[in-house]
Amino acid sequence: MTTTPARLTVLAGPTAVGKGTVSADVRARFPQVWLSVSATTRSPRPGEIDGVHYHFVSADEFDRMVAAGDLLEWAVVHGRNRYGTPRGPVEARLAAGEPALLEIDLQGARQVRASMPDARFVFLAPPSFAELERRLVGRGTEDAEERERRLTTARVELAAESEFDHVVVNDDVHRATDELISIMGIASR
Ligand code: 5GP
Repeated sequence: MTTTPARLTVLAGPTAVGKGTVSADVRARFPQVWLSVSATTRSPRPGEIDGVHYHFVSADEFDRMVAAGDLLEWAVVHGRNRYGTPRGPVEARLAAGEPALLEIDLQGARQVRASMPDARFVFLAPPSFAELERRLVGRGTEDAEERERRLTTARVELAAESEFDHVVVNDDVHRATDELISIMGIASR
């Protein structure tokens, strides 16, 4: 078995728990942490920039990436679109001994666990299911049908919390970021 540098951190958690907000807070306060930009077949939301929030690709391009082995992991998320982590940039960061963070779903986290068991696996949990529902409605980026789909997935994902090395409750973004940073072993500036 090849040994994997323990500098990869995988952050997973249900929809609307605040993975994006916590990752953005990590990046704002600890610029030395590199966050992987996923490829997705989903369409951009208003304000999302190609190459920054995601690499927005066609279904054909995603097929090509899968066939070429360019993705470290990939999954169909919420029964709709495909999302995957480009392998090259992650491997380059790890080879340079630099901290890398992946923000992915449960299926993806399981795949990374299989190929890189030395990575740190962190589950971001909501204070409660009701709070998760409130956040999802509050952000207003999905219609009612899509919200239901996401909440169904969220119930399944919440039950998988015990598979993770660490559980961070996102009751407060700054506090959750501090906890994540401490798990990643990164010193404050
Ligand atoms: P959204 O469409 O709201 O941006 O993301 C939907 C879900 O896809 C989130 O749970 C997010 O963590 C997950 N996701 C984003 N990028 C990836 C990825 O590269 N791989 C996997 N497996 N899931 C991802």
